[in-house]
Amino acid sequence: MNRYFVRRERCPACNNRQHTTLCDVSYVESPLRDYLQSLYSEVGPGVEFKFLEGAHYNLVECTACGLIYQAEVPGDIVMHKLYTEWLNPEIIKRNAGQRQIKQGLFMAMEIARAIQYTRKVPAQVKFLDFGMGWGNWCLVAKAFGCDVYGLELGEDNLNHARTLGIKEVSLNDLTRYRFDVINAEQVFEHLAQPLETLKTLSSVLVDGGIIRINVPQSRDFKRRLKIWDWQASLTQDHKNSLNDGAPLQHINVFIGRSMIAMGKAAGMTAIEAHNLNPVTRRVSPLGAVKSMFWNYLKTQLPGISARRKLERLSRTTNQFFVKV
Ligand SMILES: [Zn+2]
Repeated sequence: MNRYFVRRERCPACNNRQHTTLCDVSYVESPLRDYLQSLYSEVGPGVEFKFLEGAHYNLVECTACGLIYQAEVPGDIVMHKLYTEWLNPEIIKRNAGQRQIKQGLFMAMEIARAIQYTRKVPAQVKFLDFGMGWGNWCLVAKAFGCDVYGLELGEDNLNHARTLGIKEVSLNDLTRYRFDVINAEQVFEHLAQPLETLKTLSSVLVDGGIIRINVPQSRDFKRRLKIWDWQASLTQDHKNSLNDGAPLQHINVFIGRSMIAMGKAAGMTAIEAHNLNPVTRRVSPLGAVKSMFWNYLKTQLPGISARRKLERLSRTTNQFFVKV
């Protein structure tokens, strides 16, 4: 390891010490070097390899929660370089301008679900988008009538958010606020200390508040890892792409189970809000009978019911956590 990297000795989701090693290879040798060179020359000026000398792409898997994580992660200097220099903000801006209608509908549905779970009307809901990027989620929450705040590190993003009338919150000021809904879309896979971050977010949430965390769905990552095709990782959505564990950036490869464990370690409970349809909550007569039957079974078989619920929740990496 070099002085620009730090080592994560424990699982950053559940704090467990035990893990198995999946790979441990140098960043500055092929094929990783070629991959980094190609990728970062497309999205910015290119990687400065002197910062990566001696550092390894060291993937390990937590024996308790199944999180696959990069044990060596960039420290502050390389993190800053990565997100402000190596990744050109102009390109991120261009991608944000390419959003499709279905993505807008998805955002609206997800925010509606979270609001509905709080049992408040939107105007009473304080909404924070943690890592707001170009402010898309904040704009949708504003359209519902929520009181909207965004947290972001990139200066370009913050300037843009100001023009949209989004109130900005910095990490240092966070504890002065209390939110009803916190959203983190495609953020936690990038964080060096996701559990600590979740604890902080939980501390600024009202009781009964919701934190929604969505990260890449990476079910067959270990199959892809065995194939080890870094050229495929340069092509969007290739079946062998290793992008879910992209070196330096996607430093945590979550599965549903590891997210639930992280929530639990932060004192939060995962809920099935993604099944909630906030528009039509009407139930057909047959549905009502089925529901009565299942509710009766649940009272008779509470162990099985809880296990089934956990199995259902474990299938997704789009999780809603409630603070109770
Ligand atoms: Zn773990």
